[in-house]
Amino acid sequence: MSGGRRVAVVTGGASGIGRATVERLVGDGWNVVVADLNQANGDALVRDLTGTGGTEGADRGQVDFVRTDVSDEGSVEAAVARAQERFGRIDAMVNNAGVGGAFGPITELELEDWEYTFSIVSRGVFLGTKYAARAMTASGRGGSIVNTGSLAGISGGAGPQAYSAAKAGVINFTRSVAVELAAHRVRVNSVSPGFIRTPILGTGVKKIERLLGDVQPWPEVGEPTHVASVIAFLVGPDSAFVTGESINVDGGVTAAGPRVG
Ligand code: NAD
Repeated sequence: MSGGRRVAVVTGGASGIGRATVERLVGDGWNVVVADLNQANGDALVRDLTGTGGTEGADRGQVDFVRTDVSDEGSVEAAVARAQERFGRIDAMVNNAGVGGAFGPITELELEDWEYTFSIVSRGVFLGTKYAARAMTASGRGGSIVNTGSLAGISGGAGPQAYSAAKAGVINFTRSVAVELAAHRVRVNSVSPGFIRTPILGTGVKKIERLLGDVQPWPEVGEPTHVASVIAFLVGPDSAFVTGESINVDGGVTAAGPRVG
């Protein structure tokens, strides 16, 4: 355990938005447990943040990696326990791990594919919230939980069916749990990214670039750091009275709606 530093667990923290969040929080002085399925990316991140030429400094926090499958209850419980064992506490849980799911007609969607998407996007957020909330309520110190939603959880056209349904669920699950946990001083919020340049978008980035200025008013594709800074705000003291909120980080896509002018 190291001093009174705040401690966060970030699921899906080895890539994209999660990785940018880990980098931001460590830079802000948090100790962070990265909980991700991808061992190689997790190891690389720990190396980058602690190795020679890395970003160590007196005010920076430490980073630890634990291979985690957010669809597995024991695995998620173990990730939260790791934060308490290694760093002595948990103040923030960022339930961010996700998979995109394949586009295709609903008439051809296999039940197995539907359930796979839900097992990560929906079950993963439930399990992360459950075990973080247990630890935070037991400590009496409260805490902050941030769930990664999506533009697809708000708009019908931004993602495949199962992903859109699961992400809509994440946004309202967040509100529901926020109401329940407020008495324990545990805040629960979601961020809904729009089009962000990460591996999940893959070659879709090229398609998104053609939508700039139209579907998306802001003239550039979003970067993982744009979302990470909002997550950092939501886990930190500047958002002390914000709970049950959903913040879109989408370059104005949801604001725009249909364009007639
Ligand atoms: P990414 O592919 O870069 O990162 C996702 C991470 O989740 C990966 O490191 C992956 O290994 C991990 N992961 C996948 N399944 C897991 C599992 N079962 N257990 C643990 N970890 C697992 O993608 P990203 O864009 O950074 O995605 C982060 C979150 O943002 C996801 O929830 C995604 O749905 C959401 N999101 C992304 C965009 C975008 O445009 N990139 C838009 C809206 C929402």
